[in-house]
Amino acid sequence: MFRTNTCGELRLSDAGKSVTLAGWVQRARKMGGMTFVDIRDRYGLTQIVFNSENDAALCEAANKLGREFVIQVTGTVRERESKNANLPTGDIEIIATELKVLNRSDVPPFTIEDDTDGGDDLRMKYRYLDLRRGCVRRNLELRHRMAFEIRRYLDSKGFLEVETPVLIKSTPEGARDFVVPSRMNPGEFYALPQSPQTFKQLLMVSGFDRYFQIVKCFRDEDLRADRQPEFTQIDCEMSFVEQEDVLQMFEGLVKHIFKYVKDIDFSEPFPRMTWADAMRLYGSDKPDTRFGMEFVELKDLTEGSGFSVMDDAKYVGAIVAPGCAGYTRKQLDQLTDFVKRPQIGAKGMMWVKLEDDGSIKSSVGKFFTDEQIRTWLERGAAKPGDLMLILAGDTMKTRKQLCELRLEMGSRLGLRDPQKFSCLWVIDFPLFEWDDETQRYYAMHHPFTAPNPDDIDMLDSDTGAVRATAYDMVVNGNELGGGSIRIHDAELQDKMFHLLGLSEEDARYKFGFLMNAFKFGAPPHGGLAFGFDRFVSILAGLDSIRDVIAFPKNNSGRDMMIDAPSRIDDSQLQELAIEVAIAEEENK
Ligand code: ASP
Repeated sequence: MFRTNTCGELRLSDAGKSVTLAGWVQRARKMGGMTFVDIRDRYGLTQIVFNSENDAALCEAANKLGREFVIQVTGTVRERESKNANLPTGDIEIIATELKVLNRSDVPPFTIEDDTDGGDDLRMKYRYLDLRRGCVRRNLELRHRMAFEIRRYLDSKGFLEVETPVLIKSTPEGARDFVVPSRMNPGEFYALPQSPQTFKQLLMVSGFDRYFQIVKCFRDEDLRADRQPEFTQIDCEMSFVEQEDVLQMFEGLVKHIFKYVKDIDFSEPFPRMTWADAMRLYGSDKPDTRFGMEFVELKDLTEGSGFSVMDDAKYVGAIVAPGCAGYTRKQLDQLTDFVKRPQIGAKGMMWVKLEDDGSIKSSVGKFFTDEQIRTWLERGAAKPGDLMLILAGDTMKTRKQLCELRLEMGSRLGLRDPQKFSCLWVIDFPLFEWDDETQRYYAMHHPFTAPNPDDIDMLDSDTGAVRATAYDMVVNGNELGGGSIRIHDAELQDKMFHLLGLSEEDARYKFGFLMNAFKFGAPPHGGLAFGFDRFVSILAGLDSIRDVIAFPKNNSGRDMMIDAPSRIDDSQLQELAIEVAIAEEENK
């Protein structure tokens, strides 16, 4: 037997047993005639003792061990004199009687510790070593546990996991496609799926009724803000359902995961908020509801003071930061600088302090009386000791800026605890989004999303105001997933394509297969997809999805370890009938 036990398994009750362990040398230290070696595997760490008085040659061999050598050790378990309460195996150690070096190791480029000295790039280049670190390994263990529980829940509800192809044709999610040249069809390309959207709808036409898939999706986007070019979705679809059925089914899934993975019970239904309310109260379609600080609209109360910043603005909005009236000039300046950053883009920030003694201090005292300002504070239910922060400008832009300011204040006040979870559904999204640049409407979700039945009459007359039967699951300010009830009527689908500026020819070329399928009895259907990486990172309490992916890519879409993407041979290019227009040096 290679090993009798793992390195995380032995306890005081095992004292006296003869055991064999195998693993990596975490560290070796010599203390007088004794050498202590910590041996590590996936399951934990065990201390091995080599005593030169018992066996000088063996101890000598142990002294030659380097970090990350792979060893096999046989010995006897005994109670440790100085116990380590932080280690599950900390009550025992192994007195070694045999040592075999199974493999040597170069000195690793960074320490294999939770608190490592390795920078990001180095760790990505040697990701296989990074993955030896307990904190990284635990994220993948969590990921596995979650995938398992997802399958258990969905299986219990009658969902079938069906695989869909990876070499396909352009998909409707609206990002740029990754493409793959076809050798057998020179000059033609496959696209990698941005999601299995069209296939899962076809499976509904096929009568599969309840489908899911934990599936890789590919989007060639600029990788700002924690995106990966390939990521994983929990993709789901159901037939003969209305929005309510879908919300209940997948609220059940999210609760199941929290319960069985985190031991957290959500007994109440998740709150639901319309998109319009989310924008009005939080300036975001994915509000972080771990804390309040909802927006207070002040436009009507600020009218006509002669203060052009407010008078000329379409929107004046504020948040009330509890207990912050003591903010110094410097702290207020920092906040002003924060909202003026180019990424946020506010022109300035106004503030009002309601002091502990009830008096008012503000940056707008020149234009407003205390009585006027008191009406703002009343509307915001401010209490003595609170600070009101105010932004003014164009409605949508200012709401987004105020959203950033609210999140910043939430962080400063410690209200965004990663171990606290606040889930909600955002519903009633608009069906369309207007784009000023191209002067046309885009589908806010995707072109197969059904309009709210109550708004169908407005499709032509008030297109921008039509609501979709679309919903997002939001957790702690992150969009965890989203979906919609689909259009299953070929005529309405045609109309939708038309409103999106797709000619009939274009629509046929891109989605003809789906339109054809819809002629053969498509059932009413709907579904959603969760971002699996994001889901894992939220439960792990991490900001980045990179940490929960075994082999992630960096911000330029590169895999630093295997060094991809890379050039291919001329012969390969020839086979594909492709010529690369960029000179070799430019490509470097
Ligand atoms: N395919 C959609 C997405 O990737 C999800 C859905 O509508 O089911 O966002």
